[in-house]
Amino acid sequence: MRNNLKFKIVGSGPTGMLLAIALSKLETNIYLTDLLSREKLIDKDKTYAITHSTRIILEKFCIWDKLKPYLYGFNTLSISDSVTCSFSVLNISDLDEDISYVKNIGWVVKHSDLMNVFFKEIDNQQNITFDSNQSLSAKKIVFDYKFFASGANFFNSHFHKFFSFKKSYNHSCLTFKVLVRGNIERRAYEIFREEGPLALLPLDKNLYQIIWTSYTAKSIDRLNSDKNFLLDNLSTILPDNFFLDQIIGEVSVFPVSLSLNMPIFNSKNLILVGDSFHTFHPVGGQGLNTCWRDINTIFDILNNDSIIRNKKLKLFRLKYYTSRFLDILITIIITDTLIKIFTNANLILLPLRRISFLFLNKFSLFRKLVLNQMTKSIVFSNIK
Ligand SMILES: Cc1cc2nc3c(=O)[nH]c(=O)nc-3n(C[C@H](O)[C@H](O)[C@H](O)COP(=O)(O)OP(=O)(O)OC[C@H]3O[C@@H](n4cnc5c(N)ncnc54)[C@H](O)[C@@H]3O)c2cc1C
Repeated sequence: MRNNLKFKIVGSGPTGMLLAIALSKLETNIYLTDLLSREKLIDKDKTYAITHSTRIILEKFCIWDKLKPYLYGFNTLSISDSVTCSFSVLNISDLDEDISYVKNIGWVVKHSDLMNVFFKEIDNQQNITFDSNQSLSAKKIVFDYKFFASGANFFNSHFHKFFSFKKSYNHSCLTFKVLVRGNIERRAYEIFREEGPLALLPLDKNLYQIIWTSYTAKSIDRLNSDKNFLLDNLSTILPDNFFLDQIIGEVSVFPVSLSLNMPIFNSKNLILVGDSFHTFHPVGGQGLNTCWRDINTIFDILNNDSIIRNKKLKLFRLKYYTSRFLDILITIIITDTLIKIFTNANLILLPLRRISFLFLNKFSLFRKLVLNQMTKSIVFSNIK
């Protein structure tokens, strides 16, 4: 072991798990914990869209090849606006040269597959201990740093002396999988609607994940409705080439918010990572990808021999929050602006909406700008 630093990670969702794997490469001792058992952590009916920035990060931590068999790539992305009846289809020729060779705009992965790969990796690392909160507390270990990766509800229930901002959109997401028919292979869809965006993510040849945002009351009504009624309701708002067969698995609902939490008034050695640090509207599928870029920054700061060897952790927190500032700010601005402009039927905004699609369809430079920002993010060139 290169050092005897001890790090505690509270929360073993996708952020806590990847953070443990990344920190294990620095030969530190990692203690990972969660309120849930291993089985419950794996068994969640969620799906994530994966971007090119994430691909590079997972390659860096030697996870990409292990995850590849479980990824479903898409090579076209359809963006449409149901209010102005505008649409545009982006494809791999709109990607920058440094990523177009991969032949995918993005990928989709099931939560359970992702967590199985992560647990396998963690089991192989001797310097990662996965334990319950109580058992870890009983060991009375003194930690050099604590990382909170305990999800979006972290702040409310735990700490004071934090800067905290939260905007509730009064929206929720209904999510479920559907079997489909039609010639729609390897295409993801983002459909802007008056009530909120509807995303369709391909999970397999005939299987799609539906992420249907609407007002919370409406989403709950839909959740409680009969599955056939829900399917009929959905089929009326889907693209013409989409034919729904049946709903597979459970229908769930998640609240949606924009939030930012930072322990600026708190002098303890603790850092917020992932959804504990920030949440965004799921439009554009940026959430988890941004969480994993936090991890890349933490790794890069700590992957400096003098910091680790001399335990110079005092400036670590400041470096981390300042390095992450721009990427998070841009993601907040983009997701929030998209919702403000496209989630209504405001007549004043209609010309702007039409012009946006005109630009997307007429100017390849504009298409490239939109697509590459979505999948690479501003920090792509710094991920090494
Ligand atoms: C509807 C919806 C769709 C989304 N779609 C996408 C998408 O397509 N692509 C994408 O990238 N992102 C997406 N996201 C966002 C993504 O789900 C989150 O960004 C991601 O789950 C954050 O991971 P996390 O590990 O930070 O938090 P979580 O997944 O919430 O995990 C937190 C963990 O901490 C544990 N925990 C909580 N409190 C404690 C405690 N006190 N002690 C110990 N453990 C604790 C919890 O049990 C949990 O296991 C979506 C989100 C929503 C709501």
